[in-house]
Amino acid sequence: MEFDLVIKNGKVIDGTGNPWFNADIGISKGKIFFIGFIDAKKTETSKIIDSKGLVVSPGFIDIHSHADYTIPFDSNVVSTIHQGITTLVVGMCGASLAPVNPKKKELFDKEFSMASPPGLEFNVTWSSFSEYLDEVEKMSCSSNVAHFIGFGMVRLAAMGYENRPPTKEELQQMKSYIRNAMEAGAFGISTGLIYTPQAYAETNEVLEITKEVAKYDGLYFSHIRNEGELVLEAIQEVIDIVEKSGCKGGQIAHHKVSGKASWGLSKETLQLIEETNERGISITCDQYPYNRGATSLITLLPPWTHEGGPEKLIERLKDPKIKEKIKKDLYEGINFESFVKNIGWECVYISSLETEKWSKYMGKSIAEIAQDKGEDDAFEVLCEILIDEEAKGGMTVESMDEEDIERIMNGRYTIFGCDGAAIPLTGPLSYGKPHPRYFGTFPRILGRYVREKKIMPLETAIRKMTSFPAQRLGLTDRGLLKTGMCADIVIFDPNRVIDKGTFTDPVQLPEGIEYVIVNGELVIEQGKHKGILPGKILRRV
Ligand SMILES: [Zn+2]
Repeated sequence: MEFDLVIKNGKVIDGTGNPWFNADIGISKGKIFFIGFIDAKKTETSKIIDSKGLVVSPGFIDIHSHADYTIPFDSNVVSTIHQGITTLVVGMCGASLAPVNPKKKELFDKEFSMASPPGLEFNVTWSSFSEYLDEVEKMSCSSNVAHFIGFGMVRLAAMGYENRPPTKEELQQMKSYIRNAMEAGAFGISTGLIYTPQAYAETNEVLEITKEVAKYDGLYFSHIRNEGELVLEAIQEVIDIVEKSGCKGGQIAHHKVSGKASWGLSKETLQLIEETNERGISITCDQYPYNRGATSLITLLPPWTHEGGPEKLIERLKDPKIKEKIKKDLYEGINFESFVKNIGWECVYISSLETEKWSKYMGKSIAEIAQDKGEDDAFEVLCEILIDEEAKGGMTVESMDEEDIERIMNGRYTIFGCDGAAIPLTGPLSYGKPHPRYFGTFPRILGRYVREKKIMPLETAIRKMTSFPAQRLGLTDRGLLKTGMCADIVIFDPNRVIDKGTFTDPVQLPEGIEYVIVNGELVIEQGKHKGILPGKILRRV
């Protein structure tokens, strides 16, 4: 027998959820060619990996990634490939880098500058989604990437930051953007209904758009309108959109129950997801295993304050009368999910700020900053920060209960995702205090929740990281260790695997992920990145 690569003596967990078994794996031309006993003496191979004592599993699929915003700057995807992730699913929460409407160029420049790391700028050479996919294909990447189109960019391209329903023409325009993306190989559409301008869309508008996705058997993934007290209503909106549009299925992004008053509601959310599946509507959710969320600082303010873009937001903060209204809406949570109302200033932590005046507070809560400044009302501090930082800046919010996290993790319809970018250990992409999930999601589930807390068998956790997300996307040649499948493989130490990053010191590689193979090529060898880019752009067929 002749192979390019042989994995010997591994404890194979094949991704089906079945118990482990001992076997060797032979890889040839990027595919899994043989699983069974391979006699090294009778085999020609350029490389043998001895994986005695290690688990060999399909490469992990990160079903919820924002790596599309960092791959153009660094395609080694260090923080994700070191977790064993071989496929990233990007374009989440309504955010994607296409389409770009050249007639509204200045809006996109603003939007991209808000999203780019300090000192870096996107070189946008595309307008349509299909042009964008062709460009990223040329960039190459260490892992495979599957794309969704983000509704936020679709709405921005058609109607800017307008807070109103679309005209007939604008709706047609949005649908044509969707058709272009789906024909180019997008797997579906994502929405982020707490973010502007997409938050201005009513259910019916999102439904109309999703009907276009349904024509291509695409998926609808949503960062729902409310993850706090109204979480059940917000999940129901996803169900209605999926049911009425007839699309292939829906997914609740980074499912959580946010804010103490709502803790425990995961019993009801999971039951709603179960019942909906029982009546033939396919709904899944994804999750990261931490009790803090992370997002942009301006998300603390009600969506109406974002109307017209960041400059208008700043003008409003400078107008004492409007500022009073913002304060009232924020403290009372009027017409939006207010983090401040639900969890309080002491649970809102600054993750990134750029000015000299404020960057020293990264890692601190806004309550602590207010105290340090001798300011009684933390709202005043927030306004000052946003004005000085030109509405940029990130935060983490401590909003979740461990019981809900474990209950959701064990849910029958739960898949895992980092909800993070792919960043290196140094340089501007790793600026500030990024959420530790960027580096630790998958190792943390395997180490903390499976090995230490024993909340589910290892085989079940691996199924939710591999064949389940592959099936969700319709990827028929990945997610399982089976002959004929693409050779995306991770080899890890089940006794050592664990995340290392914390909220105060987040930029740290996990432990125990020894080898990562993408399309038959060894990207991580004995824990070291080899700097090769064998990933492919995966397109829906
Ligand atoms: Zn999100």
